[in-house]
Amino acid sequence: MANVAVIGAGFVGLSSAWWLVRDGHQVTLYDPAGAAGGASFGNAGTFANYACIPVNNPTVFRDLPHYLLSGDSPLRLRWGYLPQLMPWLLGFLRSSTTARYTRSATALAMLLGRAQQGYAEMLTLSSLQGFVRPRECLYLYSSVSTFEASLPTLELRRSLGVKTRILDQEAVQALEPSLQPLFARGALFEGSWHLSDPSAFLQALQSWLVAQGMQVRATAAQALQPQAEGVVLQTAEGSARHDYVAVCAGAHSKALAAQCGDHVPLEAERGYHLMFPGASHLVSRPVGWAERGFYMTPMAEGLRVAGTVELAGMGPQKHQGLLDLLRFSSQRALPQLGQPVAPWLGFRPTLPDGLPVLGRSSASARVVYAFGHQHIGLTLGGLSGMVVADQVAGRACDLDLKPFSATRF
Ligand SMILES: Cc1cc2nc3c(=O)[nH]c(=O)nc-3n(C[C@H](O)[C@H](O)[C@H](O)COP(=O)(O)OP(=O)(O)OC[C@H]3O[C@@H](n4cnc5c(N)ncnc54)[C@H](O)[C@@H]3O)c2cc1C
Repeated sequence: MANVAVIGAGFVGLSSAWWLVRDGHQVTLYDPAGAAGGASFGNAGTFANYACIPVNNPTVFRDLPHYLLSGDSPLRLRWGYLPQLMPWLLGFLRSSTTARYTRSATALAMLLGRAQQGYAEMLTLSSLQGFVRPRECLYLYSSVSTFEASLPTLELRRSLGVKTRILDQEAVQALEPSLQPLFARGALFEGSWHLSDPSAFLQALQSWLVAQGMQVRATAAQALQPQAEGVVLQTAEGSARHDYVAVCAGAHSKALAAQCGDHVPLEAERGYHLMFPGASHLVSRPVGWAERGFYMTPMAEGLRVAGTVELAGMGPQKHQGLLDLLRFSSQRALPQLGQPVAPWLGFRPTLPDGLPVLGRSSASARVVYAFGHQHIGLTLGGLSGMVVADQVAGRACDLDLKPFSATRF
């Protein structure tokens, strides 16, 4: 039995803690924000096992000017942030060639194909079962031309094992009758599901882990010093020695990885949500609007409208234009919606090639990374936790981790 520190209490960190506790380790969880204090709080809640198409794909060369300049674009760039963003952006564009994007999509599909395995046993806990809604996600296209433009990516998904059912306008209306008849085509993804409350799910998971003996420290890891037989973890309250440390700090993982010899070009893709209280009955499943880059997910508190991408670092200032886009687009699709509450901003942790970092640090096998899960950290949290536990146990991992190495950049 080892004494393992997990840094970060999001989907990735708490899933890692779950797998480590399952292996019998003594786990200490560090997070100043508590369970689900980061991106894991406000996501769209979808288990998106179909999402193997990274944002960086060959269409960005054609579509980027439109996305950056159009008023109804779900992608915004804060121009003043461009100099800091440049290394990531160049890496992102380099990863958008057909060959590299296909490589990333294949690696993601390999993880996504196993993602359910990461949660299967965890979801037998009675305190978690009530959060799972087994309704397939529906992705909608408002014009036949944008649907047709997406056919190559749908075909790539299919070739990588994603099972999709294509719906015409009548079938979309029959499935979700409250929607305005704006949508020419839909894609329904087999095996996907969603959570009714991602934050409450993680709080319940943390409570269960604490009941099994996990320690929680509401403090930030400031420094990591790998040593021959362990790792010294420094916080504002002092230092502690652990046999292993798992770095699962989402978009904040870059500085910790640098202390362990790995300079990863991690950036935040900022995303937003709005909540429409009492409106969750309007759709029966997560409904995504492809051209507008967001999902409407029925949750316990109401209908959550979540998505968009802003490249602007990790400051707290919200982009009112993107919040307005979420509001008026969702009200257009569902005119019954009232006024939204609780605008939320979160930081998706994203590497330029769209792949997470999974595996051991360069400096020490005692430091294990699991971060950079971009738009699918809820989906891949369970499997990433399994990888962390395999690395700590020294168990052979039957996943090929080479594409996810911290040294690939
Ligand atoms: C709008 C939006 C919609 C999304 N929708 C989906 C979806 O439907 N499906 C899906 O799969 N994914 C979705 N995502 C992505 C998903 O939310 C993220 O990929 C995921 O939450 C990342 O989880 P994480 O545990 O790596 O990071 P986080 O949830 O960000 O957790 C990291 C934690 O580390 C802590 N931390 C940071 N620094 C330190 C430190 N030094 N010491 C200790 N703790 C530290 C933070 O406080 C935080 O709690 C969405 C994201 C957004 C923004």
